[in-house]
Amino acid sequence: MNTLIPIYETICNRIAAAARRSGRDPEAVRLVAVTKTHGPETVRDAVDAGMDCFGENKVQEAAWKIPLAPACAHWHLIGHLQSNKAKQAVRLFETIHSVDSAKLFDTLEAAARQSGTRPEFYLEVNVSGEPSKYGLTPTALPQVIEHILMYSQALTLTGLMTMAPFNPDPEKARPFFAALRHLRDAQMSRFGIDLPHLSMGMTGDFEVAIEEGATDVRIGTALFGSRPKLSALRPPQDADTTSGIL
Ligand SMILES: *Cc1c(COP(=O)(O)O)cnc(C)c1O
Repeated sequence: MNTLIPIYETICNRIAAAARRSGRDPEAVRLVAVTKTHGPETVRDAVDAGMDCFGENKVQEAAWKIPLAPACAHWHLIGHLQSNKAKQAVRLFETIHSVDSAKLFDTLEAAARQSGTRPEFYLEVNVSGEPSKYGLTPTALPQVIEHILMYSQALTLTGLMTMAPFNPDPEKARPFFAALRHLRDAQMSRFGIDLPHLSMGMTGDFEVAIEEGATDVRIGTALFGSRPKLSALRPPQDADTTSGIL
């Protein structure tokens, strides 16, 4: 039995209920199932249960997993990206949520032109100002967008992404999600562009994020349980060696 089927149904119902509460169409919210630290067999079960969109936070891990997963899966990069992984990233991912500088955009744009791919991307904004978080400051955002509008050919900017500070009370995340929406609205009118996507909300706070306008919720734990340590995720040869010791 595929245990993900009832879990997925519950999450879909919670997503739909949150959308309706705020007068939104449930179809306007996309579930990005976060499979980081889980193997390709988890992706297969998830596809079997009806999921089609997956999030990874490390390029290296995704490069191993994606070729082993069903080809119908759509892949999103949700974690911090280093420039030296840009070439791989534009080949592996349809959407990159975590672009956080004009320089990284330039590197990705060049890589996408070279590889002939046309990924969408979002700009990550650090709305809370927490020093531990990646992302552009809200004040730096307009100048980066101006740069992007001048130079983007292969890449398309379609939205903004943020992470709220950790807090067990999801209501505490609401102001940060609302802030990202306001910021998005302001950039749309300032530049006369469309930025349809707001990537915000995780296991602990996705319903509040949807009420505040999220179109992409990035959910891992609520679907797949708590994450195994990375050491548990190894190609088969390593696993065999380990089982010989055990
Ligand atoms: C891991 C991760 C998530 C998913 O977190 P959960 O709390 O397990 O749902 C979402 N977004 C990003 C950027 C992540 O790295």
